[in-house]
Amino acid sequence: MAQEDVFKKLVSHCKEYGFVFPSSDIYDGLGAVYDYGQMGVELKNNIKQYWWQSMVLLHENIVGIDSAIFMHPTIWKASGHVDAFNDPLIDNRDSKKRYRADVLIEDQLAKYDDKINKEVAKAAKRFGEAFDEAQFRSTNGRVLEHQAKRDALHERFAKALNDNNLDELRQIILDEEIVCPISGTKNWTEVRQFNLMFKTFQGVTEDAKNTVYLRPETAQGIFTNFVNTQRTTRRKLPFGVCQIGKSFRNEITPGNFIFRVREFEQMELEFFCKPGTDLEWFQYWRTFCHNWLLGIGLKDENLRLRDHDPEELCFYSKATTDFEFLFPFGWGELWGVADRTDYDLTQHQNTSGVKMVYREGEGKDMVEYVPYVIEPSLGVERSVLAVLCDAYDEEVVGQDKKGNDDVRVVLHFHPALAPFKAAILPLSKKDVLAGPAMELYNELSKEFMVDYDETGSIGKRYRREDEIGTPFCITVDFDTVGDEAKGIAADNCVTVRDRDTMEQVRMPISELKSYIESKIEF
Ligand code: ATP
Repeated sequence: MAQEDVFKKLVSHCKEYGFVFPSSDIYDGLGAVYDYGQMGVELKNNIKQYWWQSMVLLHENIVGIDSAIFMHPTIWKASGHVDAFNDPLIDNRDSKKRYRADVLIEDQLAKYDDKINKEVAKAAKRFGEAFDEAQFRSTNGRVLEHQAKRDALHERFAKALNDNNLDELRQIILDEEIVCPISGTKNWTEVRQFNLMFKTFQGVTEDAKNTVYLRPETAQGIFTNFVNTQRTTRRKLPFGVCQIGKSFRNEITPGNFIFRVREFEQMELEFFCKPGTDLEWFQYWRTFCHNWLLGIGLKDENLRLRDHDPEELCFYSKATTDFEFLFPFGWGELWGVADRTDYDLTQHQNTSGVKMVYREGEGKDMVEYVPYVIEPSLGVERSVLAVLCDAYDEEVVGQDKKGNDDVRVVLHFHPALAPFKAAILPLSKKDVLAGPAMELYNELSKEFMVDYDETGSIGKRYRREDEIGTPFCITVDFDTVGDEAKGIAADNCVTVRDRDTMEQVRMPISELKSYIESKIEF
Protein backbone atom coordinates (compact mmCIF):
# COMPACT_ATOMS: atom_id res chain seq x y z
CA MET A 1 0.00 0.00 0.00
CA ALA A 2 1.28 3.48 -0.85
CA GLN A 3 2.56 5.42 2.16
CA GLU A 4 -0.03 8.18 1.48
CA ASP A 5 -2.83 5.65 1.82
CA VAL A 6 -1.34 4.25 5.02
CA PHE A 7 -1.25 7.78 6.44
CA LYS A 8 -4.87 8.48 5.45
CA LYS A 9 -5.92 5.25 7.13
CA LEU A 10 -3.98 6.11 10.26
CA VAL A 11 -5.60 9.56 10.47
CA SER A 12 -9.10 8.12 10.16
CA HIS A 13 -8.21 5.33 12.60
CA CYS A 14 -7.19 7.97 15.14
CA LYS A 15 -10.58 9.66 14.84
CA GLU A 16 -12.54 6.42 14.77
CA TYR A 17 -10.95 5.01 17.92
CA GLY A 18 -10.78 8.13 20.10
CA PHE A 19 -7.10 9.02 19.70
CA VAL A 20 -7.22 12.38 17.90
CA PHE A 21 -10.20 14.50 16.84
CA PRO A 22 -10.06 17.67 14.75
CA SER A 23 -10.69 20.61 17.08
CA SER A 24 -14.15 22.23 16.83
CA ASP A 25 -15.27 19.30 14.69
CA ILE A 26 -18.97 20.20 14.70
CA TYR A 27 -18.00 23.62 13.27
CA ASP A 28 -15.89 22.02 10.51
CA GLY A 29 -12.69 22.23 12.53
CA LEU A 30 -10.08 24.92 13.15
CA GLY A 31 -6.96 24.83 10.97
CA ALA A 32 -4.12 22.77 12.41
CA VAL A 33 -5.59 22.39 15.90
CA TYR A 34 -6.48 18.99 17.32
CA ASP A 35 -8.09 17.49 20.40
CA TYR A 36 -7.04 14.25 22.05
CA GLY A 37 -9.75 11.71 22.77
CA GLN A 38 -9.95 9.13 25.52
CA MET A 39 -7.25 6.92 23.96
CA GLY A 40 -5.04 9.75 22.74
CA VAL A 41 -4.82 11.45 26.10
CA GLU A 42 -3.63 8.22 27.74
CA LEU A 43 -1.01 7.64 25.05
CA LYS A 44 0.14 11.24 25.29
CA ASN A 45 0.27 11.15 29.10
CA ASN A 46 2.26 7.90 29.04
CA ILE A 47 4.85 9.46 26.72
CA LYS A 48 5.06 12.59 28.86
CA GLN A 49 5.31 10.57 32.04
CA TYR A 50 8.13 8.42 30.64
CA TRP A 51 10.00 11.52 29.51
CA TRP A 52 9.55 13.21 32.91
CA GLN A 53 10.70 10.11 34.75
CA SER A 54 13.71 9.70 32.46
CA MET A 55 14.74 13.24 33.29
CA VAL A 56 13.76 13.87 36.88
CA LEU A 57 13.89 10.37 38.39
CA LEU A 58 16.87 8.99 36.51
CA HIS A 59 19.06 12.08 36.89
CA GLU A 60 19.80 13.26 40.39
CA ASN A 61 20.90 16.61 38.97
CA ILE A 62 17.71 17.42 37.01
CA VAL A 63 14.63 19.14 38.44
CA GLY A 64 11.35 20.11 36.80
CA ILE A 65 9.42 23.38 36.76
CA ASP A 66 6.13 24.59 35.33
CA SER A 67 6.29 28.19 34.13
CA ALA A 68 3.42 30.31 32.83
CA ILE A 69 2.48 30.62 29.16
CA PHE A 70 2.31 34.41 29.34
CA MET A 71 5.62 36.08 30.09
CA HIS A 72 6.97 39.62 30.15
CA PRO A 73 7.07 40.76 26.50
CA THR A 74 10.70 41.92 26.87
CA ILE A 75 11.68 38.28 27.29
CA TRP A 76 10.79 37.67 23.66
CA LYS A 77 12.78 40.71 22.60
CA ALA A 78 15.83 39.47 24.54
CA SER A 79 15.50 35.92 23.24
CA GLY A 80 15.42 37.17 19.64
CA HIS A 81 11.89 35.93 18.95
CA VAL A 82 10.38 39.38 18.29
CA ASP A 83 12.98 40.19 15.64
CA ALA A 84 13.97 36.84 14.27
CA PHE A 85 11.37 34.13 14.94
CA ASN A 86 10.28 34.44 11.36
CA ASP A 87 9.69 32.14 8.47
CA PRO A 88 10.32 33.35 4.93
CA LEU A 89 7.02 33.11 3.08
CA ILE A 90 6.30 33.19 -0.62
CA ASP A 91 3.02 33.07 -2.54
CA ASN A 92 2.23 31.57 -5.88
CA ARG A 93 0.15 34.15 -7.76
CA ASP A 94 -1.78 31.56 -9.78
CA SER A 95 -2.81 29.07 -7.08
CA LYS A 96 -2.88 31.77 -4.36
CA LYS A 97 -1.15 29.21 -2.14
CA ARG A 98 1.39 30.27 0.44
CA TYR A 99 4.63 28.38 1.06
CA ARG A 100 7.72 28.60 3.23
CA ALA A 101 10.48 29.56 0.82
CA ASP A 102 13.02 27.55 2.85
CA VAL A 103 10.83 24.44 2.69
CA LEU A 104 10.50 24.68 -1.10
CA ILE A 105 14.29 24.71 -1.33
CA GLU A 106 14.68 21.89 1.17
CA ASP A 107 12.29 19.81 -0.93
CA GLN A 108 14.46 20.53 -3.95
CA LEU A 109 17.53 19.30 -2.04
CA ALA A 110 15.64 16.14 -1.16
CA LYS A 111 14.89 15.63 -4.87
CA TYR A 112 18.64 15.56 -5.63
CA ASP A 113 19.12 13.06 -2.79
CA ASP A 114 16.34 10.91 -4.26
CA LYS A 115 17.96 10.96 -7.68
CA ILE A 116 21.30 9.89 -6.19
CA ASN A 117 19.69 7.14 -4.11
CA LYS A 118 17.82 5.82 -7.15
CA GLU A 119 21.08 5.54 -9.12
CA VAL A 120 22.68 3.71 -6.20
CA ALA A 121 19.72 1.34 -5.82
CA LYS A 122 19.71 0.57 -9.57
CA ALA A 123 23.44 -0.17 -9.53
CA ALA A 124 23.16 -2.30 -6.40
CA LYS A 125 20.57 -4.42 -8.16
CA ARG A 126 22.68 -4.70 -11.29
CA PHE A 127 25.96 -5.63 -9.59
CA GLY A 128 24.54 -7.79 -6.81
CA GLU A 129 26.92 -8.85 -4.05
CA ALA A 130 29.97 -7.41 -5.79
CA PHE A 131 28.55 -3.88 -5.44
CA ASP A 132 30.80 -1.36 -3.69
CA GLU A 133 28.52 1.54 -2.79
CA ALA A 134 31.22 3.93 -1.58
CA GLN A 135 33.22 3.46 -4.79
CA PHE A 136 30.10 3.88 -6.95
CA ARG A 137 29.14 7.12 -5.17
CA SER A 138 32.61 8.56 -5.64
CA THR A 139 33.06 7.59 -9.30
CA ASN A 140 29.73 7.33 -11.13
CA GLY A 141 29.28 10.26 -13.50
CA ARG A 142 25.55 10.78 -12.99
CA VAL A 143 25.84 10.52 -9.19
CA LEU A 144 28.71 13.02 -9.17
CA GLU A 145 26.72 15.42 -11.34
CA HIS A 146 23.66 15.31 -9.04
CA GLN A 147 25.89 15.55 -5.96
CA ALA A 148 27.70 18.63 -7.31
CA LYS A 149 24.39 20.37 -8.04
CA ARG A 150 23.09 19.43 -4.61
CA ASP A 151 26.19 20.69 -2.81
CA ALA A 152 26.18 23.98 -4.69
CA LEU A 153 22.51 24.50 -3.89
CA HIS A 154 23.03 23.61 -0.24
CA GLU A 155 25.90 26.07 0.11
CA ARG A 156 23.96 28.87 -1.58
CA PHE A 157 20.85 28.16 0.51
CA ALA A 158 22.73 28.07 3.84
CA LYS A 159 24.42 31.38 3.02
CA ALA A 160 21.12 33.03 2.05
CA LEU A 161 19.53 31.87 5.32
CA ASN A 162 22.49 33.02 7.42
CA ASP A 163 22.57 36.41 5.67
CA ASN A 164 18.80 36.65 5.97
CA ASN A 165 18.84 37.42 2.24
CA LEU A 166 15.23 37.09 1.10
CA ASP A 167 15.93 38.18 -2.50
CA GLU A 168 18.51 35.42 -2.81
CA LEU A 169 16.03 32.84 -1.49
CA ARG A 170 13.59 33.89 -4.24
CA GLN A 171 16.35 33.81 -6.84
CA ILE A 172 17.24 30.25 -5.81
CA ILE A 173 13.61 29.22 -6.28
CA LEU A 174 13.60 30.78 -9.76
CA ASP A 175 17.03 29.39 -10.75
CA GLU A 176 16.10 25.89 -9.62
CA GLU A 177 12.86 26.22 -11.60
CA ILE A 178 10.79 25.19 -8.58
CA VAL A 179 7.09 25.15 -9.44
CA CYS A 180 4.00 25.41 -7.25
CA PRO A 181 2.73 21.85 -6.65
CA ILE A 182 -0.87 23.07 -7.16
CA SER A 183 -0.70 25.39 -10.19
CA GLY A 184 2.50 23.99 -11.68
CA THR A 185 3.71 27.55 -12.42
CA LYS A 186 6.76 29.62 -11.42
CA ASN A 187 4.70 32.78 -10.90
CA TRP A 188 6.15 33.60 -7.46
CA THR A 189 5.79 36.76 -5.36
CA GLU A 190 8.63 38.34 -3.40
CA VAL A 191 9.77 36.53 -0.24
CA ARG A 192 8.60 38.20 3.00
CA GLN A 193 9.33 37.51 6.64
CA PHE A 194 6.43 36.38 8.81
CA ASN A 195 6.65 36.32 12.62
CA LEU A 196 5.25 33.11 14.05
CA MET A 197 4.29 34.37 17.50
CA PHE A 198 0.63 34.76 18.43
CA LYS A 199 -0.07 38.14 19.99
CA THR A 200 -2.79 39.17 22.37
CA PHE A 201 -3.40 41.95 24.91
CA GLN A 202 -3.24 41.89 28.68
CA GLY A 203 -5.75 44.02 30.56
CA VAL A 204 -8.63 46.05 29.26
CA THR A 205 -6.96 48.23 26.66
CA GLU A 206 -5.76 46.90 23.36
CA ASP A 207 -2.61 48.83 22.53
CA ALA A 208 1.00 48.02 21.79
CA LYS A 209 2.03 48.63 25.43
CA ASN A 210 -0.18 45.75 26.58
CA THR A 211 0.94 43.25 23.98
CA VAL A 212 1.70 39.82 25.32
CA TYR A 213 2.65 36.73 23.37
CA LEU A 214 1.60 33.14 23.63
CA ARG A 215 4.97 31.49 24.20
CA PRO A 216 6.41 29.81 21.09
CA GLU A 217 8.65 27.57 23.23
CA THR A 218 8.82 26.60 26.88
CA ALA A 219 12.59 27.10 27.17
CA GLN A 220 12.48 30.81 28.03
CA GLY A 221 10.54 30.01 31.22
CA ILE A 222 13.53 27.93 32.29
CA PHE A 223 16.16 30.53 31.39
CA THR A 224 14.34 33.37 33.15
CA ASN A 225 14.03 31.19 36.28
CA PHE A 226 17.71 30.21 36.21
CA VAL A 227 18.61 32.32 39.26
CA ASN A 228 15.53 31.20 41.23
CA THR A 229 16.11 27.53 40.48
CA GLN A 230 19.84 27.55 41.10
CA ARG A 231 19.43 29.40 44.41
CA THR A 232 16.60 27.24 45.73
CA THR A 233 18.00 23.88 44.62
CA ARG A 234 21.59 24.82 45.59
CA ARG A 235 22.67 22.60 42.70
CA LYS A 236 26.26 22.58 41.50
CA LEU A 237 27.01 22.51 37.78
CA PRO A 238 26.21 20.52 35.77
CA PHE A 239 22.49 20.50 36.45
CA GLY A 240 19.36 20.56 34.38
CA VAL A 241 15.89 22.06 34.54
CA CYS A 242 13.09 20.59 32.45
CA GLN A 243 9.48 21.28 31.76
CA ILE A 244 6.55 20.04 29.73
CA GLY A 245 4.04 22.57 28.49
CA LYS A 246 2.04 24.17 25.72
CA SER A 247 3.64 26.25 22.98
CA PHE A 248 2.00 28.16 20.17
CA ARG A 249 3.24 29.00 16.69
CA ASN A 250 1.28 30.64 13.91
CA GLU A 251 2.76 28.25 11.34
CA ILE A 252 2.52 29.33 7.69
CA THR A 253 2.19 25.84 6.35
CA PRO A 254 0.84 23.62 9.09
CA GLY A 255 -0.15 20.13 8.14
CA ASN A 256 0.60 16.46 7.99
CA PHE A 257 -1.99 15.88 10.70
CA ILE A 258 -0.45 16.52 14.16
CA PHE A 259 3.11 16.90 12.80
CA ARG A 260 2.94 20.69 12.37
CA VAL A 261 0.19 22.31 14.38
CA ARG A 262 -0.40 25.75 15.84
CA GLU A 263 -0.91 24.66 19.44
CA PHE A 264 1.32 21.90 20.74
CA GLU A 265 3.29 20.68 23.72
CA GLN A 266 7.03 20.57 24.14
CA MET A 267 9.21 18.57 26.50
CA GLU A 268 12.33 20.65 26.96
CA LEU A 269 15.44 20.28 29.03
CA GLU A 270 18.01 23.00 29.61
CA PHE A 271 21.16 21.33 30.90
CA PHE A 272 23.56 23.92 32.33
CA CYS A 273 27.26 23.08 32.37
CA LYS A 274 30.67 24.64 32.66
CA PRO A 275 31.97 26.20 29.42
CA GLY A 276 34.47 23.80 27.91
CA THR A 277 32.55 20.71 29.06
CA ASP A 278 29.62 21.51 26.78
CA LEU A 279 30.58 19.35 23.79
CA GLU A 280 31.02 16.35 26.08
CA TRP A 281 27.54 16.92 27.53
CA PHE A 282 26.17 17.47 24.04
CA GLN A 283 27.38 13.96 23.13
CA TYR A 284 25.87 12.57 26.32
CA TRP A 285 22.43 14.02 25.50
CA ARG A 286 22.68 13.04 21.84
CA THR A 287 23.19 9.40 22.86
CA PHE A 288 20.62 9.61 25.65
CA CYS A 289 17.93 10.95 23.31
CA HIS A 290 18.65 8.26 20.75
CA ASN A 291 18.29 5.53 23.37
CA TRP A 292 15.15 7.16 24.73
CA LEU A 293 13.48 6.99 21.32
CA LEU A 294 14.46 3.32 20.96
CA GLY A 295 13.15 2.80 24.50
CA ILE A 296 9.64 3.92 23.55
CA GLY A 297 9.73 1.30 20.82
CA LEU A 298 10.59 3.34 17.71
CA LYS A 299 12.41 1.32 15.06
CA ASP A 300 16.02 2.39 14.57
CA GLU A 301 15.69 2.14 10.79
CA ASN A 302 13.04 4.88 10.97
CA LEU A 303 15.36 7.23 12.87
CA ARG A 304 18.10 9.42 11.47
CA LEU A 305 20.44 11.70 13.39
CA ARG A 306 21.22 14.72 11.22
CA ASP A 307 24.16 16.76 12.48
CA HIS A 308 24.10 20.36 11.30
CA ASP A 309 27.00 21.41 9.06
CA PRO A 310 29.03 24.36 10.37
CA GLU A 311 27.39 26.72 7.84
CA GLU A 312 23.91 25.53 8.91
CA LEU A 313 24.49 26.15 12.63
CA CYS A 314 22.91 29.21 14.31
CA PHE A 315 25.60 31.78 15.05
CA TYR A 316 25.49 31.00 18.80
CA SER A 317 25.35 27.20 18.53
CA LYS A 318 28.42 25.00 18.68
CA ALA A 319 26.65 21.80 17.70
CA THR A 320 23.13 20.77 16.75
CA THR A 321 21.61 17.43 15.87
CA ASP A 322 18.11 16.95 14.52
CA PHE A 323 16.59 13.59 15.28
CA GLU A 324 14.43 12.83 12.29
CA PHE A 325 11.77 10.16 11.93
CA LEU A 326 10.62 8.55 8.71
CA PHE A 327 6.93 9.49 8.74
CA PRO A 328 4.73 8.17 5.89
CA PHE A 329 5.10 11.63 4.27
CA GLY A 330 8.92 11.58 4.54
CA TRP A 331 11.64 12.44 7.06
CA GLY A 332 10.62 15.05 9.63
CA GLU A 333 12.22 16.55 12.74
CA LEU A 334 11.19 14.95 15.97
CA TRP A 335 13.75 16.16 18.46
CA GLY A 336 16.35 18.90 18.28
CA VAL A 337 19.46 18.71 20.47
CA ALA A 338 21.59 21.86 20.52
CA ASP A 339 24.61 23.26 22.29
CA ARG A 340 23.34 26.85 22.74
CA THR A 341 26.49 28.05 24.54
CA ASP A 342 25.79 30.96 26.95
CA TYR A 343 23.63 32.81 24.41
CA ASP A 344 20.24 32.75 26.17
CA LEU A 345 21.44 33.53 29.69
CA THR A 346 23.72 36.29 28.40
CA GLN A 347 20.87 37.84 26.44
CA HIS A 348 18.68 37.92 29.57
CA GLN A 349 21.55 39.17 31.70
CA ASN A 350 22.18 42.05 29.29
CA THR A 351 18.51 42.94 28.88
CA SER A 352 17.28 42.55 32.48
CA GLY A 353 20.44 43.70 34.23
CA VAL A 354 20.20 40.65 36.53
CA LYS A 355 23.35 38.53 36.77
CA MET A 356 22.83 35.09 35.25
CA VAL A 357 26.02 33.60 36.62
CA TYR A 358 27.23 30.55 38.44
CA ARG A 359 29.75 31.06 41.23
CA GLU A 360 32.47 28.46 41.70
CA GLY A 361 34.93 28.27 44.58
CA GLU A 362 35.19 30.27 47.80
CA GLY A 363 36.59 33.60 48.96
CA LYS A 364 39.22 35.14 46.74
CA ASP A 365 39.40 31.96 44.63
CA MET A 366 35.77 32.41 43.64
CA VAL A 367 35.09 32.75 39.92
CA GLU A 368 31.79 33.49 38.30
CA TYR A 369 30.68 32.74 34.76
CA VAL A 370 27.57 32.35 32.66
CA PRO A 371 27.00 28.61 32.20
CA TYR A 372 26.67 27.00 28.82
CA VAL A 373 23.52 25.06 28.04
CA ILE A 374 22.61 21.92 26.13
CA GLU A 375 18.99 21.87 25.02
CA PRO A 376 17.17 18.70 23.96
CA SER A 377 13.71 19.84 22.78
CA LEU A 378 11.07 17.28 21.86
CA GLY A 379 7.51 17.79 20.63
CA VAL A 380 4.79 15.73 22.32
CA GLU A 381 2.56 15.66 19.21
CA ARG A 382 5.39 14.54 16.95
CA SER A 383 6.31 11.80 19.46
CA VAL A 384 2.69 10.64 19.53
CA LEU A 385 2.59 10.63 15.73
CA ALA A 386 5.88 8.72 15.41
CA VAL A 387 4.69 6.13 17.93
CA LEU A 388 1.36 5.75 16.09
CA CYS A 389 3.08 5.43 12.69
CA ASP A 390 5.48 2.76 13.93
CA ALA A 391 2.71 0.92 15.78
CA TYR A 392 0.04 0.87 13.05
CA ASP A 393 -0.13 -2.40 11.20
CA GLU A 394 -2.55 -4.28 8.98
CA GLU A 395 -1.99 -8.03 9.12
CA VAL A 396 -3.59 -10.67 6.97
CA VAL A 397 -4.49 -13.37 9.48
CA GLY A 398 -6.43 -15.71 7.23
CA GLN A 399 -9.26 -15.85 4.73
CA ASP A 400 -12.99 -15.35 5.29
CA LYS A 401 -15.64 -17.75 3.93
CA LYS A 402 -15.68 -15.94 0.58
CA GLY A 403 -11.91 -16.29 0.25
CA ASN A 404 -11.19 -12.61 0.95
CA ASP A 405 -8.23 -11.66 3.14
CA ASP A 406 -9.12 -11.37 6.80
CA VAL A 407 -7.18 -8.31 7.88
CA ARG A 408 -6.63 -7.34 11.47
CA VAL A 409 -5.65 -3.75 12.25
CA VAL A 410 -3.35 -3.66 15.23
CA LEU A 411 -1.43 -0.99 17.08
CA HIS A 412 1.79 -2.58 18.33
CA PHE A 413 2.49 -0.03 21.06
CA HIS A 414 5.18 -0.66 23.60
CA PRO A 415 2.99 -2.05 26.44
CA ALA A 416 4.01 0.83 28.72
CA LEU A 417 2.63 3.36 26.23
CA ALA A 418 -0.61 1.54 25.42
CA PRO A 419 -3.71 3.41 26.69
CA PHE A 420 -5.05 0.21 28.29
CA LYS A 421 -2.60 -2.33 29.64
CA ALA A 422 -5.20 -5.08 29.65
CA ALA A 423 -8.85 -5.79 28.84
CA ILE A 424 -11.08 -8.00 30.95
CA LEU A 425 -13.43 -10.01 28.78
CA PRO A 426 -16.00 -12.35 30.37
CA LEU A 427 -16.74 -15.15 27.91
CA SER A 428 -20.45 -14.58 28.53
CA LYS A 429 -22.47 -11.58 29.69
CA LYS A 430 -24.20 -13.76 32.29
CA ASP A 431 -23.76 -12.76 35.93
CA VAL A 432 -21.93 -15.97 36.69
CA LEU A 433 -18.98 -14.70 34.59
CA ALA A 434 -19.63 -10.95 34.45
CA GLY A 435 -19.59 -10.71 38.27
CA PRO A 436 -16.12 -12.23 38.80
CA ALA A 437 -14.83 -10.46 35.68
CA MET A 438 -15.97 -7.11 37.10
CA GLU A 439 -14.28 -7.99 40.42
CA LEU A 440 -11.06 -8.70 38.54
CA TYR A 441 -11.46 -5.43 36.64
CA ASN A 442 -11.90 -3.51 39.91
CA GLU A 443 -8.83 -5.18 41.37
CA LEU A 444 -6.50 -4.56 38.40
CA SER A 445 -7.84 -1.02 37.87
CA LYS A 446 -6.17 -0.05 41.13
CA GLU A 447 -2.84 -0.66 39.42
CA PHE A 448 -3.29 -0.11 35.69
CA MET A 449 -5.60 1.38 33.08
CA VAL A 450 -7.80 -1.62 32.30
CA ASP A 451 -10.70 -1.94 29.88
CA TYR A 452 -13.83 -4.04 30.41
CA ASP A 453 -15.86 -5.35 27.48
CA GLU A 454 -18.64 -7.92 27.54
CA THR A 455 -20.40 -7.22 24.22
CA GLY A 456 -20.01 -9.21 21.00
CA SER A 457 -18.16 -12.40 20.22
CA ILE A 458 -14.78 -12.92 21.87
CA GLY A 459 -13.09 -12.71 18.44
CA LYS A 460 -14.65 -9.29 17.78
CA ARG A 461 -13.62 -8.10 21.22
CA TYR A 462 -10.03 -9.21 20.63
CA ARG A 463 -10.03 -7.22 17.38
CA ARG A 464 -11.40 -4.11 19.09
CA GLU A 465 -8.61 -4.30 21.65
CA ASP A 466 -5.99 -4.83 18.88
CA GLU A 467 -7.30 -1.67 17.22
CA ILE A 468 -6.56 0.41 20.30
CA GLY A 469 -3.32 -1.42 21.04
CA THR A 470 -4.22 -3.21 24.29
CA PRO A 471 -1.33 -5.65 24.87
CA PHE A 472 -3.23 -8.26 26.92
CA CYS A 473 -6.78 -9.60 26.73
CA ILE A 474 -7.83 -11.53 29.82
CA THR A 475 -10.74 -13.89 29.35
CA VAL A 476 -12.77 -15.08 32.30
CA ASP A 477 -14.52 -18.36 31.38
CA PHE A 478 -16.53 -21.14 32.99
CA ASP A 479 -13.41 -22.98 34.13
CA THR A 480 -12.28 -19.84 35.93
CA VAL A 481 -15.37 -19.83 38.16
CA GLY A 482 -16.29 -23.56 38.18
CA ASP A 483 -19.82 -24.79 38.85
CA GLU A 484 -20.72 -25.57 42.44
CA ALA A 485 -24.00 -27.29 41.52
CA LYS A 486 -22.14 -29.74 39.29
CA GLY A 487 -19.32 -30.08 41.75
CA ILE A 488 -16.78 -28.52 39.35
CA ALA A 489 -14.19 -26.55 41.26
CA ALA A 490 -13.08 -23.12 40.11
CA ASP A 491 -9.57 -23.23 38.63
CA ASN A 492 -9.09 -19.49 39.37
CA CYS A 493 -7.17 -19.18 36.13
CA VAL A 494 -7.79 -16.94 33.15
CA THR A 495 -6.68 -17.00 29.52
CA VAL A 496 -4.25 -14.25 28.64
CA ARG A 497 -3.98 -13.44 24.93
CA ASP A 498 -0.95 -11.56 23.67
CA ARG A 499 -1.78 -8.77 21.18
CA ASP A 500 1.31 -9.22 19.02
CA THR A 501 1.70 -13.00 18.83
CA MET A 502 -2.02 -13.75 19.41
CA GLU A 503 -0.81 -16.64 21.58
CA GLN A 504 -2.93 -17.58 24.57
CA VAL A 505 -1.70 -18.85 27.92
CA ARG A 506 -3.62 -20.00 30.97
CA MET A 507 -2.54 -18.23 34.12
CA PRO A 508 -3.63 -18.08 37.79
CA ILE A 509 -5.44 -14.82 38.60
CA SER A 510 -3.00 -14.32 41.46
CA GLU A 511 -0.10 -13.99 38.98
CA LEU A 512 -1.76 -11.45 36.68
CA LYS A 513 -0.57 -8.31 38.41
CA SER A 514 3.09 -9.26 38.46
CA TYR A 515 2.85 -10.60 34.88
CA ILE A 516 1.51 -7.29 33.56
CA GLU A 517 3.96 -5.32 35.67
CA SER A 518 6.89 -7.23 34.20
CA LYS A 519 5.66 -6.55 30.66
CA ILE A 520 5.11 -2.82 30.99
CA GLU A 521 8.62 -1.94 32.04
CA PHE A 522 10.56 0.21 29.59
P1 ATP B 1 10.50 22.76 12.34
O1 ATP B 1 11.81 23.02 11.60
O2 ATP B 1 9.87 21.42 12.01
O3 ATP B 1 9.53 23.90 12.27
P2 ATP B 1 11.82 23.69 14.64
O4 ATP B 1 13.25 23.41 14.33
O5 ATP B 1 11.29 25.06 14.48
O6 ATP B 1 10.88 22.65 13.86
P3 ATP B 1 12.18 23.69 17.45
O7 ATP B 1 12.00 25.14 17.58
O8 ATP B 1 13.55 23.11 17.56
O9 ATP B 1 11.50 23.19 16.10
O10 ATP B 1 11.19 22.97 18.46
C1 ATP B 1 11.54 21.78 19.14
C2 ATP B 1 10.55 20.69 18.86
O11 ATP B 1 9.21 21.14 19.04
C3 ATP B 1 10.58 20.17 17.42
O12 ATP B 1 11.61 19.25 17.24
C4 ATP B 1 9.21 19.54 17.30
O13 ATP B 1 9.20 18.24 17.87
C5 ATP B 1 8.34 20.45 18.15
N1 ATP B 1 7.61 21.41 17.30
C6 ATP B 1 8.07 22.58 16.82
N2 ATP B 1 7.14 23.20 16.09
C7 ATP B 1 6.05 22.39 16.10
C8 ATP B 1 4.74 22.47 15.53
N3 ATP B 1 4.36 23.51 14.82
N4 ATP B 1 3.89 21.46 15.74
C9 ATP B 1 4.25 20.39 16.48
N5 ATP B 1 5.46 20.25 17.05
C10 ATP B 1 6.35 21.23 16.87
